Amino acid sequence: MEKKNLKAMDLNELTEYIRTLGEKDFRARQIYRWIYKGVSDFESMSDLPKNLIVQLKKCAYISEIKILKKVDSKKDKTSKFLFLLVDGNIIESVKMEYSYGVSVCVSSQVGCAMGCAFCASTLGGIVRNLEAWEMVDQILQIEKQINKKVSHVVVMGSGEPLLNYTELIKFLRLLNNPLGLNISLRKVTVSTCGIVPYIYKLAEENMPITLSISLHAPFDDLRNKLMPINRKYNITQLLEACNFYIMKTKRRISFEYILISGVNDGKECAKKLADLLRGMLCHVNLIPLNPVKEKLFKGSDPRAIRRFEKILEENRIPVTVRAKMGSDIEAACGQLRWSFLKEVEG
Ligand code: SAH
Repeated sequence: MEKKNLKAMDLNELTEYIRTLGEKDFRARQIYRWIYKGVSDFESMSDLPKNLIVQLKKCAYISEIKILKKVDSKKDKTSKFLFLLVDGNIIESVKMEYSYGVSVCVSSQVGCAMGCAFCASTLGGIVRNLEAWEMVDQILQIEKQINKKVSHVVVMGSGEPLLNYTELIKFLRLLNNPLGLNISLRKVTVSTCGIVPYIYKLAEENMPITLSISLHAPFDDLRNKLMPINRKYNITQLLEACNFYIMKTKRRISFEYILISGVNDGKECAKKLADLLRGMLCHVNLIPLNPVKEKLFKGSDPRAIRRFEKILEENRIPVTVRAKMGSDIEAACGQLRWSFLKEVEG
């Protein structure tokens, strides 16, 4: 009989499983709690009876991803983690510490298929989707390493979360379970480049997460060049889906806009962006580009950023410039994994 990975189960699945072993439901809750305390060997689960431990060791296990490398920023409390998956693949996560808590940026796929022109995650293409437990484990392993609770989660690491929809939803439910990580969905952000059909679907899930849209350009021809997904779902279709999402969930959408020098940071772009978003329940995050070695783009200078921000403000679009964190540790999407893979290849 194949051994079962208990970490891949939600509490209902674990309860079903524990019943097949002839045990009471509360045993599942005990095991679930241990898993989410970061315990992976049954021997350490001190409230389980000996015979159950023996049985579990025979037919089950608790899988883990392993920290391969941790890089700390010298400028702030940002750290980047490289993880080794059971199948030998490598992913990365970022931990950021703020006055309000600890935030972790998780990856949703190994690599990425989206081909955005400025992004390192997509350099090697897509390898595979992550399973829900592999997303959970990025948080559990970081909590164990830093000995602090994670309070906020952003699904903004490598990968397009909406193209890994089923596991993403399972992951969000796991985050929220009070016996486990117990993270409020209001403290969770999911970022997408705009997979329109799944935005409609997500709107129906009744989950009070923040949806974040990587917009990066207000004109279709420019967005087509920066983000190939725009050729499939253009800006009009994307914003229609966003309006539906807002109507359905009453939640503010966050639009991410990377400022790239001479590419999308001009006045015309700022004005057009304001026109597109006027009246919408939204917020714009301006992000100075983190330059990626393999790409030619440069981040906008502070004056261009300020000018862009001002135009949005004048148009009463809520806007903030995101503080740059971890810029010395290649903390932008997919950067560390890519340089690590290159280094290993020589
Ligand atoms: N696929 C999803 C989530 C991953 S990307 C999405 O597109 O939203 C997370 C965010 O990092 C996106 O807004 C992405 O555009 C941004 N990003 C990618 N490369 C970057 C870089 N070099 N500098 C700054 N932000 C970057």
